[in-house]
Amino acid sequence: MKVCLDYGHGGRDPGACYGDRREADDVLAIGKIVAKHLRAKGVVVQETRKDDSFVSLASRCHIANKANYDYFISFHRNAYSPEIASGAEVYVHTSGSPKARQLASRLQDCLVDFGYRDRGVKKANFYVLRGTRAPALLVEIGFIDNSVDNWRFDRHMEEMARRLAEEIVGTDPQQF
Ligand SMILES: [Zn+2]
Repeated sequence: MKVCLDYGHGGRDPGACYGDRREADDVLAIGKIVAKHLRAKGVVVQETRKDDSFVSLASRCHIANKANYDYFISFHRNAYSPEIASGAEVYVHTSGSPKARQLASRLQDCLVDFGYRDRGVKKANFYVLRGTRAPALLVEIGFIDNSVDNWRFDRHMEEMARRLAEEIVGTDPQQF
């Protein structure tokens, strides 16, 4: 199994910010733990960035399309208006395959198990979903401008990462 993990933003693009908190840091932190668990299960993992560096959306797609990955999974945190919105959601492309939608609902269920409000699996025409060949997902792990979602993120990051990795591997037909 081969997976391409995409940690949103980075470098001169911090993503959504709330106080000192930057989306780019949060998604790098949890994403790298997901990668570690996937590799421990024998999955080949490509990452679109490994540190706090800027990578364009086009470059992310280029990296994702260099090999035949089973999934492309992009990690983000949401933002709206301070302390107003909350919850997790997973996006697939408007033309998303059943394979993408199946894993999306499993990852969404996993996040909801950790207490995030269920905003559901949604469709969108985001650049990285449109521009990547593998079944593609974009995961929004709570709102960075919501203190309770941030508490949840910090408290459960390690365990969430492990569970997300299990769900990703669990959908690999070769595992059965
Ligand atoms: Zn983002």
